[in-house]
Amino acid sequence: MSTVPVAPPGTVPLNPPLPADSPSIPSGGWMGLAERVLAGDGISREEARAVVTSADAELLEVLAASYRIRRRHFGDTVQLFFLMNAKSGLCPEDCGYCSQSKISTADIPRYNLLAPDTILDAARLAAERQAKTFCIVISARGPSEREIDAVCAIVPQIKARHELNVCACLGLLTPGQARRLADAGVDKVNHNLNTSARYYPSVCSTHTHADRVATLAACRDAGLELCSGGIMGMGEDPDDLVDMAFELRALGVESIPLNFLTAIDGTPLGGSARLTPRDCLRGLAMMRLVNPASEIRVAGGREIQLRSLQPLALYAANSIFVGDYLTTKGQPPAADEALIADLGFTITGGPERGAGCQSSAP
Ligand code: SF4
Repeated sequence: MSTVPVAPPGTVPLNPPLPADSPSIPSGGWMGLAERVLAGDGISREEARAVVTSADAELLEVLAASYRIRRRHFGDTVQLFFLMNAKSGLCPEDCGYCSQSKISTADIPRYNLLAPDTILDAARLAAERQAKTFCIVISARGPSEREIDAVCAIVPQIKARHELNVCACLGLLTPGQARRLADAGVDKVNHNLNTSARYYPSVCSTHTHADRVATLAACRDAGLELCSGGIMGMGEDPDDLVDMAFELRALGVESIPLNFLTAIDGTPLGGSARLTPRDCLRGLAMMRLVNPASEIRVAGGREIQLRSLQPLALYAANSIFVGDYLTTKGQPPAADEALIADLGFTITGGPERGAGCQSSAP
């Protein structure tokens, strides 16, 4: 039985009417807001909330504003990321969105850490698909010594064979573990905040938001880049999304994956389906306006929640995962390549630092 108190799905619309004292459109309009962000003035919390709660009729202008910023920092390039679920299921934590948790009865593959050759095969596939970053993900509260040893041993082999960044997503880390990963050549660590500190107890009871922030701090101290984002659609309200976006900014996170909940049967959030594609686009646009120079990734759930509006997401975001997610299928790589080409965008290559992965892709 779930120990996680989860908000009932479908009860709180993400774009409720604004209170009378909230600005619906910033002075100078959405493009004026983009100009102010580009000038370094930043965006206020109220303006960020106005983006998330903006009307459907304003969506294209909101997206255009976020695209102006995305274009300044990333041009029309798209970075691709490839996830490897190197250990699946069997996790002692109780994250309500996750099919791999101890309280999930979802029908997923469950296996311990894969053999090195299997991980190397996946890295080769990532390189063939033009991915810039290979993400090694394990389901765990945190890694065992054996798991840290295995990751530290495989990373130099991956880098010797391929022009790939490597991101490790191993759960909570101690400062010593973070240093070991950095010494082994890991470029960055993913550890998602997932939602606001206020809402976190509604989705997990076995660790805290503060635990996650402490892991990010340990990684930063070890010289690793940070990849951290969240999940929309868990019953949070607009203020929770805004809080998370500003916390990511305060932490200086280089790479922000934004997931859209895939409500998997057998998880506490199973059966909920409350996002619209426009909600997802507003969330991405807000994330871009608050974190103008960060890489922003359209992450897990994009095919299901954005549906026919997927291409529009890349006017705010500048990266996507190719291939499958942790326990759910993505669309075929050829479909992603066509989507990018149809936009007139190009896939970036090379192992520049500044990318990452996600721990909580459904
Ligand atoms: S999100 Fe990570 S820590 Fe939480 S249950 Fe899933 S695998 Fe475990």
